[in-house]
Amino acid sequence: MAPTNRTRLSQTLMVLAAVAAAMPLSAAEHMAAAHASIQAADASRHVNALADDAFEGREGGSRGGRAAGTYIVAALEKLGLQPAGDNGGFYQNFGAMRNILALVPGSDPALAHELVVVGAHYDHVGYGTASNSYGPTGYIHNGADDNASGVAGLLELAEALGHLPSRPRRPLLIAFWDGEEKGLLGSYHFLRVRPAVLAAYAPVFSVNLDMIGRLRGERLEVYGSRTAAGLRMACLEANARANLELVFDWEITDDSDHYPFIAAKIPTVMFHTGLHDQYHRPSDDTHLVNFSGIEPVTRLVLDFVTAIADDPRPSRPFRGQCRTESAATRRGLEMPAAETVTSGPRPRWGIGTRGDACEPEAPIVVRVTTGSPMAKGGVLLGDRIVAIDGMPLADQPDMLAKLAAAGDHIEIDVDRKGRRLRLAVNAGATALEISP
Ligand SMILES: [Zn+2]
Repeated sequence: MAPTNRTRLSQTLMVLAAVAAAMPLSAAEHMAAAHASIQAADASRHVNALADDAFEGREGGSRGGRAAGTYIVAALEKLGLQPAGDNGGFYQNFGAMRNILALVPGSDPALAHELVVVGAHYDHVGYGTASNSYGPTGYIHNGADDNASGVAGLLELAEALGHLPSRPRRPLLIAFWDGEEKGLLGSYHFLRVRPAVLAAYAPVFSVNLDMIGRLRGERLEVYGSRTAAGLRMACLEANARANLELVFDWEITDDSDHYPFIAAKIPTVMFHTGLHDQYHRPSDDTHLVNFSGIEPVTRLVLDFVTAIADDPRPSRPFRGQCRTESAATRRGLEMPAAETVTSGPRPRWGIGTRGDACEPEAPIVVRVTTGSPMAKGGVLLGDRIVAIDGMPLADQPDMLAKLAAAGDHIEIDVDRKGRRLRLAVNAGATALEISP
């Protein structure tokens, strides 16, 4: 039976209504929805559950540790994530311990096997021993910050990924490591033995969330930013909305699950809100967790991992120099330079910069001449110049060329402690100061 004109019209109207209702959100609206889904209240619920005495401190392989695993798997099932463990499940077993793995497939067939691993360990130290607790031992160590906070952030991140309009180009592996407190056992195991379902995949990048529950003064520590070129700049971009103070630490130690990846020459960044007096003590408990602080940290991590996973360029090569760069190397690179004495005309802008081979797009300000236009514009020692008049820089020579070509009034973007600031600099200022 053919439809009548009347039904055709009503069908057309219905189709139009359906189209309007399903009007695609813009990418920005999707990202806003993804950000909004990351909620302190949800993080609080997860931390309170995982750090409950019922889980007895989540020691790897213990009944409490296994119960915590059951809780995480139930949360992943609720989110509808794809299991990536052994035999079609979420668990990757090793001894009595279990990593928990979920896969968000990539959308680009050419990059579909380049795994971006985002991990957090879910085990803690149980009742504590002389070797893993600062005491008192024999009491449940709930590990609310270490690392129920990282697990909560990762579950919120997994939920947020579901709000994105399309999957990132590269696949993401959401990984909850077991046995971290026993010597990074879960992450080492994963790097040695991949579940069959991941046989065709190779990790090209990893992110580690360990202790993100004590954000103080908006200060977020970032480790591993020198394991590949340009990662500091990637963190700066990801921080655009969260606007936290980023503290880049160049030391790489084997104290969390970032280390096995770095040892395997895989670029890796770890986010961490810092140590505290309750670290590895029974007193690391939920009432001290800054739940609202987990929101901006997790949102930053969401923007960071999606940018890495969605980058159409070849994956970033590991930068071996990161293993020998220390806090002392950093001090040397960022050390202020002596004022240069020039006999010719006074330089127009009044700064000196030093290039950084790992972050060529962000030369470091190592000299600011007192009273110069840059000084008056608010440029400080240690700032990194990232744009002139809104144009990003290729490297230090490009910055010099842009400054030479610029007019007397410029806008200069600097990276100051991981925050992007725009400063107005007026090279003609001295002329305006001439009084009759
Ligand atoms: Zn720990």
